Amino acid sequence: MSEYVPMRLPRRRSVAVQVGSVMVGGDAPVVVQSMTNTDTADADATVAQVAALARAGSELVRITVDRDESAAAVPRIRERLDRIGVNVPLIGDFHYIGHKLLADHPACAEALAKYRINPGNVGFKAKRDTQFSQIIDIAQKYDKPVRIGVNWGSLDQELLTKLMDENAASPNPIAASAVMREAIIQSGLLSAERAESLGMARNKIILSAKVSNVQDLIAVYADLAARCDYALHLGLTEAGMGTKGIVASAASMGILLQQGIGDTIRVSLTPEPGGDRSKEVQVAQELLQVMGFRAFVPVVAACPGCGRTTSTVFQELASDIQEHIRVSMPVWREQYPGVENLNVAVMGCIVNGPGESKFADIGISLPGTGESPSAPVFIDGEKVMTLRGPSIAEDFKAMVLGYIEQKYGSGKPLELPSAAQE
Ligand code: SF4
Repeated sequence: MSEYVPMRLPRRRSVAVQVGSVMVGGDAPVVVQSMTNTDTADADATVAQVAALARAGSELVRITVDRDESAAAVPRIRERLDRIGVNVPLIGDFHYIGHKLLADHPACAEALAKYRINPGNVGFKAKRDTQFSQIIDIAQKYDKPVRIGVNWGSLDQELLTKLMDENAASPNPIAASAVMREAIIQSGLLSAERAESLGMARNKIILSAKVSNVQDLIAVYADLAARCDYALHLGLTEAGMGTKGIVASAASMGILLQQGIGDTIRVSLTPEPGGDRSKEVQVAQELLQVMGFRAFVPVVAACPGCGRTTSTVFQELASDIQEHIRVSMPVWREQYPGVENLNVAVMGCIVNGPGESKFADIGISLPGTGESPSAPVFIDGEKVMTLRGPSIAEDFKAMVLGYIEQKYGSGKPLELPSAAQE
């Protein structure tokens, strides 16, 4: 019913960068990306995880390229992904010896869609400039963009020391934390300037400046955004595990996105042991979707439940439908174009149920405590029937699927369940 309309808040103007088949920055929507945690030299495990991340909706996937064996595996990983129809661009994450790995493994340099360089550990003293320029030369040779990714944990110590010394000598010194933020920003900007002076075009450079504290991240990116027009990669580094990592990432990136800052995001969650790496993709998508910037999956609106709902039927139904949607989306995305705009409501009682259900494409108001055991179903704002009996949940799920088929698939008219109609 309510067709999804993306929020059109003013975005900071950034130079668009083509990363493989994906545009980052400019007028492109904010791109979701993720990173594997497999050993890249283990091509089987890496192919499986990249495919899982891509199928979950990651539009770019970064892999670690830390040694010869990893670099040698990259072209094989690319070929195998292409063979199974996973064409997500791969980004190589390089530290310390990126210049050497890219030079020694041209097939790796070619297979990657972007190189990530950390200016804090590209080398030290005189070697730093040489090794940085070697990577930039290779990127230009293969026509690849780079991300200059500053991270506070590996901040350029020479630059930080210089700024700290200058601050100490200043008649009006600022707080050490502000100096650190300035060092992070300058490290990114100076490296980008250097890349440009070596001939790299602005539309080949993405910047990031990650820190692990929410307030610092907001301050760093707000400042960085005002001082350049490079496309920005947002991410809170070491966000942490579980709800803490999710809340910290959403709080910091949500504020920046609301200000129009950020062209691609990664949510750096630490997975629980044995946990699903794709969770970080789900969280990034949900962040963009709840803020109204993009639609990825159908929305299931469910009331929180209260004293009027003593049964768990509605919680089970809402979670059942949400889960069914999540696992079906990789197929539905192809089969039912536009299905991500669907709104489903599962409400617990008559107080808000019919009202909320009417605003969804398809909604159900389940019986609360003491209410007659019947559940009105609304489609496109109209009450179409009332479900009764023990199969309410199953009947409603079948109706949701029938509605999807009708609206986004073959157009076959939705068949109402024959039993238990009003
Ligand atoms: S819709 Fe009903 S069950 Fe759900 S929170 Fe509101 S009053 Fe409670």
